[in-house]
Amino acid sequence: MHNQLEKIMSIFGQMGQNQRIRDSQSAAGEARAVAKDAMRRVDALEERIAHLTLLCNAMWELLRDKSNLAEADLAVRAADIDSRDGKLDGKLPELAAACVKCGKPRMRSQPRCIYCGTDAPRSSAFESI
Ligand SMILES: [Zn+2]
Repeated sequence: MHNQLEKIMSIFGQMGQNQRIRDSQSAAGEARAVAKDAMRRVDALEERIAHLTLLCNAMWELLRDKSNLAEADLAVRAADIDSRDGKLDGKLPELAAACVKCGKPRMRSQPRCIYCGTDAPRSSAFESI
């Protein structure tokens, strides 16, 4: 009697362990899929950055070669644009020009005013990036 109870308990214990193993395998599979998607997105971003960097270099070389601008002028202008939001952090300021209808501040990444829904006119070709 005691021996049979131990066998039954062992079977239930094994069933629980098998379920935990299946749950762990399922979670690992989901984590692999998430990591694979993240890597695909990082690869796409790296390709996009490489292309944008190439275009920026080409534009700068054209401008430099067809004007009297120098590397120092580029650095001064980049620092000027960078600091427009009060932070010299090597990034474009997130705030763009105010909404043309309601006058509230607008984020560069938002094509429409979040307050009144007015489409923001593009003031720069770089706003869509
Ligand atoms: Zn607005």
